[in-house]
Amino acid sequence: MANASVSPLPAPLGEGSTPRVRFCPSPTGNPHVGLVRTALFNWAFARHHQGTMVFRIEDTDAARDSEESYEQLLDSMRWLGLDWDEGPGTGGPHAPYRQSQRMDLYKDVAEKLLAAGYAYPCYCTTEELDTRRDAARAAGKPSGYDGHCRDLSAGRKAAYEAEGRTSIVRFRMPDEAITFTDLVRGEITVQPENVPDYGIVRANGAPLYTLVNPVDDALMEITHVLRGEDLLSSTPRQIALYRALVELGIAKDTPAFGHLPYVMGEGNKKLSKRDPQASLNLYRERGFLPEGLLNYLSLLGWSIAEDRDIFSMDELVAAFDIADVNANPARFDLKKAEHVNAEHIRMLDVKTFTEACGPWLKAPFAPWAPEAFDAEKWTRIAPYAQTRVTVLSDITDNVDFLFLDEPVDDEASWTKAMKGDPVALLTTARAHLEAADWSDPESLKNAVLTAGEAHGLKLGKAQAPVRVAVTGRTVGLPLFESLEILGREKSLARVDAALAKLAG
Ligand code: GLU
Ligand code: ZN
Repeated sequence: MANASVSPLPAPLGEGSTPRVRFCPSPTGNPHVGLVRTALFNWAFARHHQGTMVFRIEDTDAARDSEESYEQLLDSMRWLGLDWDEGPGTGGPHAPYRQSQRMDLYKDVAEKLLAAGYAYPCYCTTEELDTRRDAARAAGKPSGYDGHCRDLSAGRKAAYEAEGRTSIVRFRMPDEAITFTDLVRGEITVQPENVPDYGIVRANGAPLYTLVNPVDDALMEITHVLRGEDLLSSTPRQIALYRALVELGIAKDTPAFGHLPYVMGEGNKKLSKRDPQASLNLYRERGFLPEGLLNYLSLLGWSIAEDRDIFSMDELVAAFDIADVNANPARFDLKKAEHVNAEHIRMLDVKTFTEACGPWLKAPFAPWAPEAFDAEKWTRIAPYAQTRVTVLSDITDNVDFLFLDEPVDDEASWTKAMKGDPVALLTTARAHLEAADWSDPESLKNAVLTAGEAHGLKLGKAQAPVRVAVTGRTVGLPLFESLEILGREKSLARVDAALAKLAG
């Protein structure tokens, strides 16, 4: 990558420094496309600026996080090709990169915050908090935490403890407005009444996301936090915590924040994790290419140029600029995703395409036995498939006629193609095909053309019954090349079988 193409690095780093970004999902289940878009933008930003991509696992929620989903997440990232410089499997100067293995660090930071007065124990019970919140609401006042335990005397604390109350650790928000420049949205100011003091450690001592996420960003020296818009509301309180960490010497500097736009699904609703359309595994199983899917996902909030949708990962990295990310919600459009993927399939060299289809030519996707697969036939038909399929899984139905003993039996296709006088047409076509040169698709085409003419049918109408007789389907790869590759004997036998069925 030429240095000239590298856009200037946004705050807080200046010339000569390299950014450190992070991708830090919770390992809950199979990743959704919104999360993949976040990973992609962080990765592209890091690669564009020759920075460092940190991959951290936020697995502090023991109830929801499983080893299996952790493995799944790593596997997904590897499949996508979004490599990381520090993180699981790679290690790095800030290891470990799994929060479940960093509990001592959080405990230590929480104690320092308490000791220095940036945080305080809060003894309020849930019922008390609820009652006071309802009262504040009724009076039209801000309904967040009211600061009740901010400045308890030592005697009051002792009394609460004597009552057997437990306490959470609550962070003390400063009493002034917080202003920051979002890399996507520009300047944002939040008034103190909108950001009440908030919990950072549970009564049982378990640290919360509100603490561990910024603490790790600080310890791992993250310079730019690029994440989904849903986290925008937590940014002012994280900035306040960051400032405390800087004053305590735990953090060097507050990172810059950029919030990526929402991804909208069907009916203009936010694409939710539970939406079937949102699951990365779905795209993998359908045979999206990682670069096709990533190319499409990069268009959710960003564009390389007007009127340009298709580009490689290298081009994306060279052009990516966080300043070009649009704050407006982006709509996930499956048709467009498929179109972009199809273009990437066309761009592969034939050999790569032929190999990439491997899984869809085997169980559990392919209905034929492994012994029935013929690599030579596959290699010959692959180039015709490459220019036609949208996703790699399309391949199975497109080539099954080559490997199945008999073509698939599809009632609807049969009825659609066997119109008029199919017996007369197929009988004539068979005679011409028998006499044709089977090493030349042109000769096979002329055979069907001539047969059609004899019955007053154009080529399109004449070839439909032949196609269904031989492949079982009304649509598929170019017919005459398909016939040539299947071979004379099998093709004619299938026409005979169709004639027998029509006679029966
Ligand atoms: N683990 C958090 C999440 O997945 C990360 C949030 C962040 O990027 O700050 O929502
Ligand atoms: Zn309290």
